[in-house]
Amino acid sequence: MAGKARIVIVGGGVAGIELATSLGRGGSADVILADRSLSHIWKPMLHTFAAGTARADRQKVNFFAQACRNGFRFQPGALIGIDRQARRVRLAVEAAEGRPEVERAYDLLVLAIGSRANDFGTPGVAKHCLTIDDLTEAEHFHERLRCQLLARLDGGGLLEIAIVGGGATGVELAAELKHAINMLAAYGSPDLPGRLRLTLIESGPRLLPAFPEKVSRAAARILSDLAVEVRTGAMVTAADAAGFVLKDGTRISAELKVWAAGVKAPDVLAGLDGLERSRTGQLVVGADLRTTRDPAIIALGDCASLTDPRTGQPVPATAQAARQEAQHLSRHLGRALSRGETPATQLPPFRYVEKGAIVSLADFNGWGTLGRYTFGGGRLNGLSARLTHDLLYRQHQIGLYGPLRGAMTWVLDDLDHLISPPVRLD
Ligand SMILES: Cc1cc2nc3c(=O)[nH]c(=O)nc-3n(C[C@H](O)[C@H](O)[C@H](O)COP(=O)(O)OP(=O)(O)OC[C@H]3O[C@@H](n4cnc5c(N)ncnc54)[C@H](O)[C@@H]3O)c2cc1C
Repeated sequence: MAGKARIVIVGGGVAGIELATSLGRGGSADVILADRSLSHIWKPMLHTFAAGTARADRQKVNFFAQACRNGFRFQPGALIGIDRQARRVRLAVEAAEGRPEVERAYDLLVLAIGSRANDFGTPGVAKHCLTIDDLTEAEHFHERLRCQLLARLDGGGLLEIAIVGGGATGVELAAELKHAINMLAAYGSPDLPGRLRLTLIESGPRLLPAFPEKVSRAAARILSDLAVEVRTGAMVTAADAAGFVLKDGTRISAELKVWAAGVKAPDVLAGLDGLERSRTGQLVVGADLRTTRDPAIIALGDCASLTDPRTGQPVPATAQAARQEAQHLSRHLGRALSRGETPATQLPPFRYVEKGAIVSLADFNGWGTLGRYTFGGGRLNGLSARLTHDLLYRQHQIGLYGPLRGAMTWVLDDLDHLISPPVRLD
């Protein structure tokens, strides 16, 4: 191949930004990272921005600055199409004059554009429910929450919030909202927590279906102690302005309605030039992470559908899996490119290593399991689980900033906690 291989990575989330940073530092390829947003955010923190217990501005990573420091280029733009024959990807750039399109040529295209909550076409959800799938949505939720809370600081009746989805997102959001509102009580509204009715609705028989039963039971007990009304086995059939309707006809009234159930791929993948997709729209990839119908396109993270050959189960849509895929690719592709091989070179199969699942219930508790391959498996709870949950993010930051700057961001965050209010209403 004449000149360096051109690698275009679309989506700078958990997987994409780690891959771009690592390949960019290696210097063996011409790497472009494209994202519809101008900054990266660690998605597992979105519920804390929504509840107002963390500040997003401190956690953003500016794509231009990251690119400049790490030997890759950043191209703003949302994916709108691919010409597989010509190997060109089309992006739309938000600009004052509309949405001009740009095209970038590639030898290898990596798609890492994440996922969204899945409302399974439930009537009324798209119109009446909020989702927390990106920073804009988390901030929009916070704005709505703030308006509702300000109206109730000095009396003003009950605030009803209902969350659909008893997975990690819904459980963590419920705990975080309770934590935020308990904090607000100390701001001069001692009866505010008593005027919040928070309902968590899950269609399955238990919360946290991806976790062992013991963890589900512990989470349900903690939420119940916090006066969160947990409704398991409750199938939502519709949403409207006043709340949710369940299959048995029960109504759950709520001013703020959050849909945090299910996972599906972004709609744009449906229009991509004949690539194979799963039932929930993800791009089907083989063990080498290449899409089944085009080896010049790789998919990573939540937007990829990969079956673990050892278990026959899908690799889960988690930050942990997204990071492992990005690290696998940067290690093996980076090595091949540095030897002068092309991006078409055969890569070893990816093996997902389950390192455990952790759920953090705000300041109240944390629960989780260590994976089969981590110290032989085991359970974590309380502070150790919360620290392990934090550690995943800190490892990601060290990957992006290097050990020294990564450690500094940790120290600065801890100092910020000492100075900033525990919950913001601005
Ligand atoms: C509230 C919440 C809590 C969570 N907690 C945990 C947890 O505790 N542990 C865990 O392992 N996982 C957790 N997850 C799941 C985890 O966040 C995802 O699995 C992970 O972020 C997936 O990484 P990714 O790189 O595939 O996608 P993402 O991190 O979502 O990144 C996708 C990127 O693509 C960009 N993008 C999207 N569409 C386009 C487009 N059309 N064109 C260009 N760019 C685009 C986005 O701007 C974004 O930068 C949580 C998720 C949520 C919402």
